[in-house]
Amino acid sequence: MGKIKKIGVLTSGGDAPGMNAAIRAVTRTAIYNGLEVIGIRHGYLGMVNANFKPLYSYTVSDTIQRGGTFLKTARCEAFRTPEGRKTAYENLRAAEIDGVVVIGGDGSFKGASIFNEEYNIPFVGVPGTIDNDIFGTDYTIGYDTALNTVVEAVDKIRDTASAMNRMFFVEVMGAEAGHIALYSGIASGAEAILMPEIRGEARDIVKIIETGNTRKKSSNIIIVAEGDEEGGALAIAEKYKPQLEGYDVRVVILGHLQRGGSPSALDRVNASRLGNAAVEALLDGQQSVMVGLQNNEIVLIPFRKAVKQHKGLNQHIVDIIDILNV
Ligand code: ATP
Repeated sequence: MGKIKKIGVLTSGGDAPGMNAAIRAVTRTAIYNGLEVIGIRHGYLGMVNANFKPLYSYTVSDTIQRGGTFLKTARCEAFRTPEGRKTAYENLRAAEIDGVVVIGGDGSFKGASIFNEEYNIPFVGVPGTIDNDIFGTDYTIGYDTALNTVVEAVDKIRDTASAMNRMFFVEVMGAEAGHIALYSGIASGAEAILMPEIRGEARDIVKIIETGNTRKKSSNIIIVAEGDEEGGALAIAEKYKPQLEGYDVRVVILGHLQRGGSPSALDRVNASRLGNAAVEALLDGQQSVMVGLQNNEIVLIPFRKAVKQHKGLNQHIVDIIDILNV
């Protein structure tokens, strides 16, 4: 592999606030190092369809504060097939792209890892997903903004819940992981938090609510991760209603508003660091690795490890849920 002269950058999988800040950092770090940069639109689909556009320093001006991703993102079935990846390789070759930065979640890294086993164009990943569930990094781009959006919404729900003595089941994102549920639950003082990772006693909502009721709570908020084993907030509320007689039970599903909005300062700074580190990694000859943050330092994690398992919940935070609700 000769010296890298031109790199591609794409966003893939679910969109997350801060992805634009990462694209900007990749673009400017590349230009700073004398590289050309190509934006690949609509995730891997843009690789398969050769949907490329050159990026310059001015192209990424006025983007750091914007939510979404100006390169667009997608889920691409064709890239899952050997034929699709072959077409992608031929398109990258024809455009003389000799390294790619993928900003996305573990699915995107799985695809990148398979591609790197088949073809010799190096891929480096930047963790971008609101779920914060990627193994090997304390942090993923978009999580902090999503969390703050959820907390702001739950605070508003709490106002009306208190005014009317209601119980709300609030569903938050997290199909396979409870990070958003756990952190937003702690930050908003939720009475109970239901997450895919936690089973058994800790999930006894009725007991938790009744304990709280002995000190005359005027409202109850139960945060539910969408991927909870008992179902979403609607199903869970229906299931428990017969045991919650006397409570005025309501359900709110926060849905896609959790993905939108201007990225938080933390997401912008971390996206800038990670985007910069990804280009540095390509220049250092790395491939099939994700750049991550551990204890606020940049680390490189092989895709192979990053995709093997999801990151677990922080046990200390799990342990204090009940303590903070006595
Ligand atoms: P999020 O965590 O936000 O959902 P993600 O990156 O995990 O993001 P996925 O939909 O799982 O999102 O993956 C994004 C894309 O990566 C897929 O649409 C597909 O193109 C590619 N991809 C995922 N898994 C594979 C695989 N096993 N082989 C080839 N490509 C894959």
